[in-house]
Amino acid sequence: MLNEVLPGLGQVEDSKGAGDRRSSIEPAQPLHSVPARPVAADAVTEMREAILGKLAFAIGRSPANARERDWYAATALALRDRIVEACVASDAAVPNKRVYYLSLEFLIGRLTSDALNNLGLFETTKAALAQLGVALEDVEAAEPDAALGNGGLGRLAACFMESMASLSIPAIGYGIRYDHGLFRQSLEDGWQREAPETWLAEGNPWEFARPEATYTIGFGGSVTMSMASEGVIRRHWAPAETVKAVAYDVPVVGWRGRHVNTLRLWKAEAESAIDLARFNDGDHVGAVAARARAEAISRVLYPSDSSPAGQELRLRQEYFFTSASIQDLVRRHVAERGDVRSLADHAAIQLNDTHPAIAVPELMRVLLEDHALGWEDAWDVTTRTLSYTNHTLLPEALETWPVELMERLLPRHMQIIYLINWMHLEERGKSGQGGAEHLAAVSLIDETHGRRVRMGHLAFHGSRRVNGVSALHTDLMRSTVFKDLHALDPDKIVNKTNGITFRRWLHNANPELTALAVEAVGPGVLDDPSLLRGLDAFARDSEFVRRYAAVRRGRKEALAVIVSERTGIDIDPSALFDVQIKRIHEYKRQLLNILETVALYQAIKAEPHRDWTPRVKIFAGKAAPSYVRAKLIIKLACDVARAVNDDPEVAGRLKVAFLPNYSVSLAEAIIPAADLSEQISTAGMEASGTGNMKLALNGALTVGTLDGANVEIREHVGPENIFIFGLTAAEVLDRMQEPGYAQAAIRQSPRLAAVLDMIASGRLSPEDPGRYRALVDDLRYRDQYLLTVDFDDYWRAQREIDRAWAEPKAWWAKAVHNTARMAWFSSDRSMREYAEEIWRVRVA
Ligand SMILES: *Cc1c(COP(=O)(O)O)cnc(C)c1O
Repeated sequence: MLNEVLPGLGQVEDSKGAGDRRSSIEPAQPLHSVPARPVAADAVTEMREAILGKLAFAIGRSPANARERDWYAATALALRDRIVEACVASDAAVPNKRVYYLSLEFLIGRLTSDALNNLGLFETTKAALAQLGVALEDVEAAEPDAALGNGGLGRLAACFMESMASLSIPAIGYGIRYDHGLFRQSLEDGWQREAPETWLAEGNPWEFARPEATYTIGFGGSVTMSMASEGVIRRHWAPAETVKAVAYDVPVVGWRGRHVNTLRLWKAEAESAIDLARFNDGDHVGAVAARARAEAISRVLYPSDSSPAGQELRLRQEYFFTSASIQDLVRRHVAERGDVRSLADHAAIQLNDTHPAIAVPELMRVLLEDHALGWEDAWDVTTRTLSYTNHTLLPEALETWPVELMERLLPRHMQIIYLINWMHLEERGKSGQGGAEHLAAVSLIDETHGRRVRMGHLAFHGSRRVNGVSALHTDLMRSTVFKDLHALDPDKIVNKTNGITFRRWLHNANPELTALAVEAVGPGVLDDPSLLRGLDAFARDSEFVRRYAAVRRGRKEALAVIVSERTGIDIDPSALFDVQIKRIHEYKRQLLNILETVALYQAIKAEPHRDWTPRVKIFAGKAAPSYVRAKLIIKLACDVARAVNDDPEVAGRLKVAFLPNYSVSLAEAIIPAADLSEQISTAGMEASGTGNMKLALNGALTVGTLDGANVEIREHVGPENIFIFGLTAAEVLDRMQEPGYAQAAIRQSPRLAAVLDMIASGRLSPEDPGRYRALVDDLRYRDQYLLTVDFDDYWRAQREIDRAWAEPKAWWAKAVHNTARMAWFSSDRSMREYAEEIWRVRVA
């Protein structure tokens, strides 16, 4: 029994002292009882009546003919009422300082389970629905994922919003209310197909339309000058075209419902719905053309990840949501404080990547034109209010816009950028740093590829603080892309390692593991994840480990059902589940994983009678629709799956499955079922990663390179509880200078050579033998991401993992240590650090 191991708790190193330790173990909670609260009968009745009321009067259905979607909407509306009560309380007092988090993406996923968990209404609502003959799981499943983001960057914004609400940091998130979020992915014979995503088709019960919060956004036109007073020239922008930005608010409720923040998403609308004169002239299509053009701005999320979408519409989206947000927050500040000059004292604006970098000239424009500040005052307010988070150092992903496009679309902003740049370069000259090479490096305008505005430099120069998202990434920012700007202002760059919200990625995604943790270390762990450290003492407790493993087993069985339903592939829950789930990108090296899979396949076929560790390789992830190479990698994974899964010689000891349509909800199903987490990017290329954190928290062991936050995960879980392989970031930079590194690596590795031969030969694609020839040639002669160089060490690490899996006691001890030691990666910790060191707002 658990009680027998309690004395072991005395050895816990990191717990908060004896007084905080749990001296009694709570009785076992039924699963899904997080947070554990008694369910009062009248609370259930009240919730049941609230849901029935919404079903009748807001949806217009009777219980007899309500669909699951109707029950979902009724439940969401009933919960929303509860949140509004808390909301009104949060709104009552004007906070001293607000955080404004500007992000082109918020990958929030489903909201009902978040709200239920954070309000502590899970059991109550489940019981209320059960009385109506409805299963809560079915209601939850009827909610479409709000896929307003591509991947990590958008998911980070969602985790940060939840953590700010949980820490009672007054905050508003600003983004775009896309009609169509990230495309739906299906696999047709292994090829990715994209279909539009339609999350708003039946409305969104979580949002409030706020037509009273509407702003005018200009594009194009010209800049005029006037004499404001003797010798003072004022410039005014007269846009040629205007669009309305209309606010839609989604409440973000924090843990235990103590605080509610707002996610304000902007919808684009035309100034007028129809050109009546044209309509009456019989031009029925032309009469709504302007409207279609305006509304196109919030129509679709750009499905590009880590590379700029060079479309004019993308720049229109960026300016649209940035301008609406800046206008909104300045208006609020002036209404509350009277004077725009004190903006920096009461507002901290965080730019999530460079997508909202146009905020620098936009805030300047508003201060100069609408509030008549002088240049120096405006620049002072701007640079004390804004901060910028960098998410990537990949050269192809650093956003730049052609000067010509900026001049046409945003003429006033281009003037302001020129003026900012002129002063910036003047100052360099004055301080004797005026060498042409230095000036070219720090200039906001890149003159080397046509003339383009460097949005990263603009955001950097206009910000008080600039942060990277892991220790390694921040170091590389200082030494590479922002080297010269960093030298000018060495205190500006700070590190803020990413985090994940444990409410979603532990409590909601894995209620079974959460219940076990509560039982072992006490319910305080729900509020203070550092108490997870108490689980260390249970790592070798056979009863605890048996239950920890049983929780995993249950989730693996559930995932096996999903895999079977969605791919037709049967997998064995007792095999090692090896997962790589993330956007498909060459630098993330799904291809390296596939190469190792083929090598393992060949090894099994060469020695079919050895006792191979049964493994299931599970992949999921979307490729940007225009990213041909990434789509071919998906196809290769599917071709390998086809060859391996049905080979009688393999006899089920290796299976490969590619699960279509990766999303937040699918992640919530896969992560608790994972034994092994693949985090194998080329060192120096993954800024942080957050999937790595979700998986380790849930007890998957990581096989990874020393990249992004993997470095810090190793420090926290201990080097004996993670499998590290491959070159370091510094070694990668060196090796890239050596010509012919790929050929050399292949020459030294007969195993790799055999894998490449097999893929190039067409044996995996008999219907199209040349399908992978170019892919393999690229590996042989270029290999930009150093797969060939890391292959042998990756193979070694994987075989070490096979041996570790064969020792269940040691394996589960490692898994428990991972869960126990991941508390630092809570986004609450990230948000506290931002609050203290970047925003300077008080955390309750
Ligand atoms: C966490 C998450 C990501 C980010 O994954 P990485 O492995 O860090 O790239 C992407 N998409 C979804 C749906 C996620 O939940």
